[in-house]
Amino acid sequence: MKSRKTEPARHRRVARRPLLKAAGAAVVAASAGGVWSAHAAKSSSAAADESADALIIGAGYAGVTVARELAARGLKPLILEARNRTGGRIWTDTFSGEQVEIGGGWVGEQQKLVQRELTRYGIATTPDIGPERMLLPGDNGLESLTPEEAVGALSPLWSEFYRGSENYFERPYEPLHRKDLLQKVDGLSLADRLRQLSLAPKEFQRLNSETSLYSGGPSSIGALTGMAQWFQLAGGTYESSLSMNQKPAGGMISLLKAMLKEAGTEVRLQSAVTRITESKGLVTVEVSGGKRYTAPLVVVATPTNVWKDIAFHPGLPPAHATAARQGIGVPHSNKLWIHVRGRTEALFAQTPEGSPISMMLPQQQLSDGRLMVAFGGPSLDAEDPAAVQKAVRQFLPGSSLIRYRTMDWGRDRYSRGGWGLRRPNQLLNLFPQIEEPHGRILFAGADIAQGWHGAYIEGAIESGLRAAQQAITLAP
Ligand SMILES: Cc1cc2nc3c(=O)[nH]c(=O)nc-3n(C[C@H](O)[C@H](O)[C@H](O)COP(=O)(O)OP(=O)(O)OC[C@H]3O[C@@H](n4cnc5c(N)ncnc54)[C@H](O)[C@@H]3O)c2cc1C
Repeated sequence: MKSRKTEPARHRRVARRPLLKAAGAAVVAASAGGVWSAHAAKSSSAAADESADALIIGAGYAGVTVARELAARGLKPLILEARNRTGGRIWTDTFSGEQVEIGGGWVGEQQKLVQRELTRYGIATTPDIGPERMLLPGDNGLESLTPEEAVGALSPLWSEFYRGSENYFERPYEPLHRKDLLQKVDGLSLADRLRQLSLAPKEFQRLNSETSLYSGGPSSIGALTGMAQWFQLAGGTYESSLSMNQKPAGGMISLLKAMLKEAGTEVRLQSAVTRITESKGLVTVEVSGGKRYTAPLVVVATPTNVWKDIAFHPGLPPAHATAARQGIGVPHSNKLWIHVRGRTEALFAQTPEGSPISMMLPQQQLSDGRLMVAFGGPSLDAEDPAAVQKAVRQFLPGSSLIRYRTMDWGRDRYSRGGWGLRRPNQLLNLFPQIEEPHGRILFAGADIAQGWHGAYIEGAIESGLRAAQQAITLAP
């Protein structure tokens, strides 16, 4: 794997112009202000370079939520962030001169915490562009449908797929409420559930194309209870799940920036934590390069998939060690931004598992062409412009690409996966222990949220609020 001092995103200009490579995010200046505090000074060890009231590892939504809550209680935390930017798996950047999301892109009106935060900072949302035409797996290749026809075809299929989840997730925000009913379903993968239904090949492909996309590989990776919980959180119908299509003004990063501004917390960029040691009521954190920080407590707000890259002393308890070993972030998550020449209709496409592009969604029409978002399947060589061009022509015959950009989150060293989706058995095996502090080491992150876990900033905020409460209880 290539060194990832800069972000591993690629821009590709194809057709008439030579290949253009442009990697790297703008360096985000850390906010001013010291992190030294009276309390931290008392407790700092002589060997440490700096101290803080609390150390937060990771400047994604979870870490920033913790920072804001602790700052509101008069504490002075410090955030250590490995990348040269804040946001983590949220990355608002530009492509073809337009603001785009390289990671997470949408929020939903059902997401109460996100909505509360957006209101708090006066950030408006707008619904994303809807498709004019939809391509879904059919009996003989892809079938073209109107959006109404597609919803009519998919809605009963998904209702059948999730049948029973209204019972085992009777209270979707408290996933363990019906532990008794979960015993039977928690071990099921999405593939297992598909096998339980008597589906015609076309129906199977329509569901499996989405379950495999969300699994970041075959549908055997993701847990039925993972997606079923999202379904119930969204309102329990296919139609209600479609309303997860809101875009915040200023991009997905705007809310995080507003929270960080209110917190006034310093973020130390390019500070990849390599070791965390707790001893005698003090936690020492070492970053790559050897610099050390101490604090009475630390909140680990990194993706679970990178916990294995940090040496914990004492070692992680069983649930955390299992999550670190198995991962929760999905293995394959390659998001592409594509600029197609000329005027094209707003086309949505979803393809059978194994296709080079699993899903393509229309974005804005520009004067010289249309932007599209696509999710590349494991079979796509997204580094190869000819392969991307060929894949797009599957949906838009004769189309030509002006340029594209790709971000492979599975190969990114600070996420080692895309959005989170629990694996079979993880709900009952990991929860609620995974939310518990390990001495003075606490954990946050969308991957380990109770509600909108994994694939949503809502979950990151939820877990950040919970970890902040725990930190306040532990703070001396
Ligand atoms: C392609 C894609 C599409 C998505 N779509 C959506 C969507 O539409 N809507 C939505 O709400 N969510 C979406 N998500 C999920 C969403 O992005 C995440 O759930 C959320 O951003 C996770 O926040 P977090 O704070 O838990 O983790 P992260 O955002 O991953 O933040 C963790 C931080 O820890 C840092 N870090 C890692 N290792 C270290 C280390 N050793 N030392 C210091 N720092 C470290 C990372 O650099 C990162 O900044 C998507 C994600 C992806 C990848």
